[in-house]
This record gives sequence, structure tokens and C-alpha cells, in this order.
Amino acid sequence: EPGLYIVATPIGNLGDLSPRAADILSRADLIAAEDTRVTAGLLRHIGVKRPMTPYHDHNADAVRPGLVARLGSEAIALVSDAGTPLISDPGFKLVRDARAAGHAVVTIPGPCAAIAALTLAGLPTDRFLFAGFLPSKAQARAEAIAEVAAIRATLVFYESGPRLGATLAALAEGLGDREAAVTREISKKFEEAVTGTLSTLAERYAEAGPKGEIVVVVAPPGAPAPASAEDADAALREALARLP
Ligand code: SAM
Repeated sequence: EPGLYIVATPIGNLGDLSPRAADILSRADLIAAEDTRVTAGLLRHIGVKRPMTPYHDHNADAVRPGLVARLGSEAIALVSDAGTPLISDPGFKLVRDARAAGHAVVTIPGPCAAIAALTLAGLPTDRFLFAGFLPSKAQARAEAIAEVAAIRATLVFYESGPRLGATLAALAEGLGDREAAVTREISKKFEEAVTGTLSTLAERYAEAGPKGEIVVVVAPPGAPAPASAEDADAALREALARLP
């Protein structure tokens, strides 16, 4: 069937490619890929060869009209390097324009690092705000953090190893010392979730960020941090010291 197929691909573990995603990729007339070399690896894994064309932030505006024009007679699959297209990845304008031109848009849901991180973090999931990547410049980052500080929801940020320490410190500063989780290498061999307060996590990663891809999940405001015995002792000592 002609139309635009939004195909989620694995975020690390190739076993997470769904049978439906593999089926669509094997039958697409064209695969629009963020990086055709990365997608070529995935296609090799499933033993598929289909025509590919690059679709990324730098050429999207130029190639989008041509892709939309082909949707009337062709099935075009959109994939990104990893995970769900459109989520901190290119694609929303292609979906918008395809729809506006009256073409079918079909989604093939699958892995998404933000959702996977929420399932690992052990923080409330009834309301969450996906905040994507923070700006890397300090002032813009502080402003972006201030914007979300009052939101009563768990916050989800994408991050990379080298910036992690600075990001955690900025989050502790701008949000207060909330509970958080640093999730890393999800679905890969070294998958981990390290939990703690933002300040302890910032300290832990101050020197060197860990390797790999990272999602930072932060508790909503006002949720009291679980009290440790040490905290209780310190609070008691402080209270005793204040007694007349
Ligand atoms: N579209 C993708 C998705 O659905 O998650 C996200 C693309 S975004 C350009 C890449 C970021 O996603 C990484 O910097 C990291 O924050 C996160 N990410 C991707 N794969 C991950 C993994 N296996 N473990 C942890 N985070 C991951």
C-alpha cells in the first residue's frame, strides 16, 4: 500500500526490531533514513536490500517535497538511526506534509529510549514531560531548566556522556535536589540505571561522564526524597543543637 510508514528500530538490541517493522522495511519501495550507513547495517541483519535515501536535519527541507510527491504511488518507510522517528529525530514535517497532501500515514511503534528509561527509573510515570536534549551552553541550559522547574511531572532528558556531569549539576541547581535516575546503554550489554539525588549523581559523574547513550529521569517537584538513616541522624543532631 502506498503511504508513509514511520518505523521504530532498535535502540541497541537488534532483537527488538518487531516482525511488523521488518516486514514493512522488506517491502518498502524506498527507505528514508537518517543515516543510510546505519540503516544498511540493520537491513543486513534482517537480510533485506531496499533502495534508501538520506533524510536528516540538513537535507530535509530540500528533499521533503520530492518524497511527498512519491507517496501517492509508493510505500516510503521513515527510520532514524535508533528508536522512534520524530522523537528527538527528524520526521514531524514529513508526517505533516504527507497528511496535508492526503497520503496515508501509518506508524509501526517500537523502541523509544525515553519510554524505556521511564520503565527503569522507578519514578512516577502517571505524568511525565519529555524534555529532549538540553542546550549545551550554560545560560540557555539554565533557562530551559527554569522553564520546567514548576511542572508537576517526572522530567525526561536525553543526554550524552561528556555532558552528563554538567547537566546533572545544572539540574540540581535549577530544580532543587530531587531524586533522579541516570539510565544508560538501554537494551545493550551494559544497561544500567543509577539512582540517587541530583547532587549525588552530579558528584558521581563530575569527573568523567560514562560512555554511551544516556537518559536522565528526574522526579516531580515536592516529592520528598526517601529519608536515609544518615539524613535522619543529621536532622536530629541539628534539631538538638537548636534546643535552648
Ligand atoms: N529517536 C530516539 C528514540 O526513540 O529514543 C532518540 C534519538 S536521540 C537523537 C538519541 C538519544 O536517545 C541519545 O543521546 C540518548 O539520550 C537516547 N538513547 C538512544 N538510545 C539509547 C540507549 N540505548 N540507552 C539510553 N539512551 C539512549
